[in-house]
Amino acid sequence: MSVPTKTEMIAEGKAKKIYATTDPTKLIFYFKDDATAFNAQKKGTIESKGMLNQRISARFFTMLRGKGIDNHYVETLNDREMLVERLEIIPVETILRNLITGSCRKRLDREEGEEPAGPIIEFCYKSDELGDPLINDDHAIAFGWATEKELAEIRRQTLAVNAELKPFLAARGILLVDFKLEFGRTQDGSVLLGDEICPDTCRFWDIETRKKLDKDRFRQDLGEVSEAYLEIDRRTAQ
Ligand code: ADP
Ligand code: MG
Repeated sequence: MSVPTKTEMIAEGKAKKIYATTDPTKLIFYFKDDATAFNAQKKGTIESKGMLNQRISARFFTMLRGKGIDNHYVETLNDREMLVERLEIIPVETILRNLITGSCRKRLDREEGEEPAGPIIEFCYKSDELGDPLINDDHAIAFGWATEKELAEIRRQTLAVNAELKPFLAARGILLVDFKLEFGRTQDGSVLLGDEICPDTCRFWDIETRKKLDKDRFRQDLGEVSEAYLEIDRRTAQ
């Protein structure tokens, strides 16, 4: 079958434009250079970000599929566009923390870069208005955002992503500090990994120097933002 083509834009998020296609089971993501932080209070652009995030996400999704972790990625169409399986997004963001930084460090007053005894999974309710508040399994189940079975599956897949991505990156001199994943339901009701995996949604530190190579450079005005995304692209290309 020929590659589906774009029809109308169905949503525009903070980082991507989402298009319906001639195939009702597929969507096209257009990756923008727009960057937001702190619940969109800080806005800017990161040169070439869209192109780099498309490429990095595609690479990670392909690697994960090769390791038996299925996901929505179908194919890359051009520099900024990818074809994905259309999902019914579960409004629960899943965060996995290998090292403690960001909101978790603040909330619990932990030491920056502390290594917990094992990876920590957190759930947040996906809501721009509320600033993606932290929730637990009971909230998600009681408010009908996900079933107990789906949450168990989300936890299993998130740990599996970490188990593959962490060593893949470590071999390339990158520490996988934490990351955010989104999952959705397929036509047959199974849980599939979606959205993107890139320096917008992960924290990457240089393994030797602990230099930040992700969106924290934008959040914290550290400079060399595009350069960091380019560095992740360069190191993961091998
Ligand atoms: P946001 O501002 O919510 O972060 P983005 O700019 O990242 O939005 O655009 C991605 C949007 O598409 C998000 O709402 C995300 O939940 C949704 N999404 C991700 N993958 C899929 C998919 N496979 N099918 C349908 N929607 C998806
Ligand atoms: Mg997003």
